[in-house]
Amino acid sequence: MIVPSTFAATRRDGLTRLAEFLPHAGSAYASGRNMDHGPDHPGAVSRLSPYVRHRLVTERDIVAGVMARHHSDAAEKFLQEVFWRTYWKGWLEMRPAVWSRFVEERDRQRDTFGDTAALTAAENGTTGIDGFDDWARELVETGYLHNHARMWFASIWIFTLRLPWALGADFFLRHLVDADAASNTLSWRWVAGLQTVGKTYLATADNITRFTNGRFKPKGLAKEAIALTEPAIEAAAPLPELLPYDAETPALLLITHEDLNPETVFPTSCALKAATLLADPDLLWGDAARRFAKAAATDTASRVASQYKCKADILEKLDVDALAAAARAARVKTIVTATAPVGPVADALARLGPALAEQGLHLRQVRRAWDSQFWPFANKGYFAFKERLPAILANGRLP
Ligand SMILES: Cc1cc2nc3c(=O)[nH]c(=O)nc-3n(C[C@H](O)[C@H](O)[C@H](O)COP(=O)(O)OP(=O)(O)OC[C@H]3O[C@@H](n4cnc5c(N)ncnc54)[C@H](O)[C@@H]3O)c2cc1C
Repeated sequence: MIVPSTFAATRRDGLTRLAEFLPHAGSAYASGRNMDHGPDHPGAVSRLSPYVRHRLVTERDIVAGVMARHHSDAAEKFLQEVFWRTYWKGWLEMRPAVWSRFVEERDRQRDTFGDTAALTAAENGTTGIDGFDDWARELVETGYLHNHARMWFASIWIFTLRLPWALGADFFLRHLVDADAASNTLSWRWVAGLQTVGKTYLATADNITRFTNGRFKPKGLAKEAIALTEPAIEAAAPLPELLPYDAETPALLLITHEDLNPETVFPTSCALKAATLLADPDLLWGDAARRFAKAAATDTASRVASQYKCKADILEKLDVDALAAAARAARVKTIVTATAPVGPVADALARLGPALAEQGLHLRQVRRAWDSQFWPFANKGYFAFKERLPAILANGRLP
């Protein structure tokens, strides 16, 4: 049995993890980040992803912490990785059809893929491929894999085992604590040669042996990785316009697991009369993420109650009537929430708006300054995106 990685789901724990990692965000990260020493040895990476994924700790918290401690050149590698997340989120936000396409492909493959024995062997870690089987079990038992292991695993899944990429992405979503619509889908697409069209990632035995310090020596891996193909995807659309929200309008604050840091979206000057935390397990894919999000919701409810001096309740099922009742109890007609990026929560909010309107209530979404600033730059490749960063970081005023 592998010792599970533990991710205590409070903002304080996330910030402690960040503070402990910050001294190592420079050259130690740059030189050591590709080594995967296994689940019991975190190595050079931060393991902050479950916190960042739910915004219990924000990208801004991390970047501000890094810049207070390191010159941006010294921590360039780490900053770039953090901005990969921002980039993927913005990229998908401007191309939501890529998420719908993944969901359709996953459902189609679930219904039609015939080789269930091969699929089961891959998910149970009984293929006989050294490393791959260990990562499958590590993922299920701990909810986390090192980035390099994720790349090797996805590559072997697609090019050696020739399993459908969408079922592999689904396997990750069902087990990762940091399971994320954008980072996961787009990374799998990248390995498969769909994201950067024609460019694939091939896992090799030498590379695996070297970066696992000899722990694994897989045999029989694919010698080539021929890119998968698909119909062309549409060009990026601008970020959706949001309906205006007036901070002086009395409102109920709705918090979802997509953004568990409303304190940095809504200043205390906002007329927030009460808060409801939506902790609906059906809006996540797997139990590890559900456990994390549930505990994080409790932490967030108590932070929010003291920050806004208001009542903060947890709603375990998205129920229009229960939300409307909470708004009426708070004597408000407006419900305000931080925007949810592409994924199940965004879909739920899209259904919720009209249903609340029928009850005379207005749902308003507010986009984080970070997202408004950076997401529009994700309209092309990552190289063009990261070119913009030095000028923004140099002025020292993070959004
Ligand atoms: C096939 C595949 C699937 C993935 N699925 C997810 C997922 O569902 N959720 C998820 O958060 N990340 C995903 N990643 C990205 C990356 O593997 C994880 O974010 C990273 O391993 C988390 O560990 P860490 O916090 O120690 O990272 P660190 O190296 O310490 O990086 C710090 C932070 O930067 C961000 N980050 C780092 N690398 C990446 C990257 N390549 N892409 C996007 N963001 C990054 C994360 O928020 C991370 O917490 C996936 C990568 C691959 C190859």
